[in-house]
Amino acid sequence: MLRILGDASFLPLPDSCSKQMTEKRDYYEVLGVSRGASPDELKKAYRKLARQHHPDVNSGDAGAEERFKEVNEAYEVLSDSDRRAAYDRYGHSAAGMGSDPFGGMGGSPFGDLFESFFGGGQQTRRRSGPVKGQDLTVTVTLNFEEAVFGAEKEVDLLRLETCASCNGTRMRDGQTPPRCATCGGTGEVRRVQQTILGQFMTSTPCTACRGEGVTITDPCPTCRGRGRTSQSRQITVTIPAGIDENQTIRLSGQGEAGPGGGPAGNLFVNVKIKPHQLFTRQGRQISSGVGINVAQAMLGDEIEVDTLDGKVALKVPAGTQSGQQFRLRQKGVPDLRHGDRGDQIVTIHVAIPDTLTHEQQTLVQQLATTFGSEVHPQPAASRGFFDKVKDALGV
Ligand code: ZN
Repeated sequence: MLRILGDASFLPLPDSCSKQMTEKRDYYEVLGVSRGASPDELKKAYRKLARQHHPDVNSGDAGAEERFKEVNEAYEVLSDSDRRAAYDRYGHSAAGMGSDPFGGMGGSPFGDLFESFFGGGQQTRRRSGPVKGQDLTVTVTLNFEEAVFGAEKEVDLLRLETCASCNGTRMRDGQTPPRCATCGGTGEVRRVQQTILGQFMTSTPCTACRGEGVTITDPCPTCRGRGRTSQSRQITVTIPAGIDENQTIRLSGQGEAGPGGGPAGNLFVNVKIKPHQLFTRQGRQISSGVGINVAQAMLGDEIEVDTLDGKVALKVPAGTQSGQQFRLRQKGVPDLRHGDRGDQIVTIHVAIPDTLTHEQQTLVQQLATTFGSEVHPQPAASRGFFDKVKDALGV
């Protein structure tokens, strides 16, 4: 059974957790003092043992480091009267040292709420494997047809890659870096935190190794111990047919290499498309315009229309109005997934001539009489045919 100091926090733990605790040596035993030892006796015993087991005087002795930590931990708890009282009553877990009360349960059952409330956002999670490299984003500008039909494009980028000289170990000739002596390679330092709800174990990144758990004693000269180097690369990007403005292609693993041998991030290629002289695009649909004259509009005609696949014939029926639209099936943009092409919408613009030959003028006047209404010709906005008529008639 484990108890946490303070009110309300009473946690029954599974057996695996209790077992961990019983393996720890009694703090009084560690310091070689009686349970009734005075603060002075504790201090004396601690100083003697600390000198004896200090890693600096016991280099090479693996057990000395462990004993040194054990002595420090015991003194840290017993020299604090509150924590000593808690330890006397409840044992190691209550004093919050060593056997992380939540360690066997995969983290605090209270989760991040307590950390954000009391801990100022301190990190309590253990280092969980290698860190992923950063994602990179580049922009590629396509011409209109490349976006419609797809293309291969080269993009230039600068990215951090795993150093080839040390293979990312950060040490000269790829040696394995030694574990950090301060944190023993865990990358974190644990401490007890007092809150109004009791004591909690928190861990902070080790400052000596900045949480990395290793010490770079002989840095690789190529990357200066960073494990990664900046490389300029040209990457070929396959642009799928039908891609649209502001869509993004993800190239998995083409981002920056992860620090400490972690997996690479992704490369995101953002697409921009240059405008086209003849066409505009709305998703899979292409729009264009074409001009016909009044005779074509009145009598109908077969005309040529530009499409992305070249010129095609379009039958304009008699009586076509300006602004009328015609659909050219499957002359639009392919669908990104299944490749089915959209349509092209052609808008007809009927061009009214602003100048007419004498013959044309006569014909139009004849035509006008067949419409059953008299025409009163007016001058053009700019001086044109009607001005000359006016002059000739002396009106
Ligand atoms: Zn290197």
